[in-house]
Amino acid sequence: MMPVNKDAWMALKDFLDSQKVELIAVSKTKPVADILALYELGQRDFGENYVQELRDKQSQLPQDIRWHFIGHLQSNKVKFILPFVYMIHGVDSYKLLKEINKQAAKLQRQINCLLQVHIAQEETKFGFSRAELDEAIVNLTGEQLPFVHIRGLMGMASLTNDEAVIRKELSGLKNIFDEYKARYFTQFDNLSMGMSSDYKIAVEEGSSMVRIGSLLFGSRV
Ligand SMILES: *Cc1c(COP(=O)(O)O)cnc(C)c1O
Repeated sequence: MMPVNKDAWMALKDFLDSQKVELIAVSKTKPVADILALYELGQRDFGENYVQELRDKQSQLPQDIRWHFIGHLQSNKVKFILPFVYMIHGVDSYKLLKEINKQAAKLQRQINCLLQVHIAQEETKFGFSRAELDEAIVNLTGEQLPFVHIRGLMGMASLTNDEAVIRKELSGLKNIFDEYKARYFTQFDNLSMGMSSDYKIAVEEGSSMVRIGSLLFGSRV
């Protein structure tokens, strides 16, 4: 198995610090030993995609890790991660927001959420379309969800080598972020975009948080 790339972490961290961008280390499918190796260097924010895997790891690892759920979350699984999750990046329906609010109320815990916007060409990716987002905003302004703290937006560019396409999608997401922040959500302070293959473009286009897996932990099989 490929070891964690500590040099890559240090170089990436220096670059991101200089740009005031946060690093989420995406550890899905990787063992707890790999997470600990980065924890020891000072990394505290980790991202996971699967509920059961996240629960298993969380119970074995230091309690000051901030866990970011970045996968597709089903409503019926919300309750399993809410006691400890720091931020949910992939919120893609109003129904899910309501379920998060309901379960969070039981814990009296406010949950940081990002709304996922569908910006890629692939149909397979999740997220609100622009029209669905506008509709969700109408619901949100009509009904209070006091245990949901909407901190910003998240998105994933198309899987392509065409930089121009990636840049256009990511800058489009930044525009939506700016517009929503100005119109509805003055509290917006997080724009989660950029992965191993496109984080440099994402930072240039105004990302505040990148989610990086394979660059740090090696490729996933
Ligand atoms: C897996 C994953 C990442 C990290 O991808 P890498 O290409 O390994 O950096 C980032 N964001 C999401 C939503 C993911 O599922």
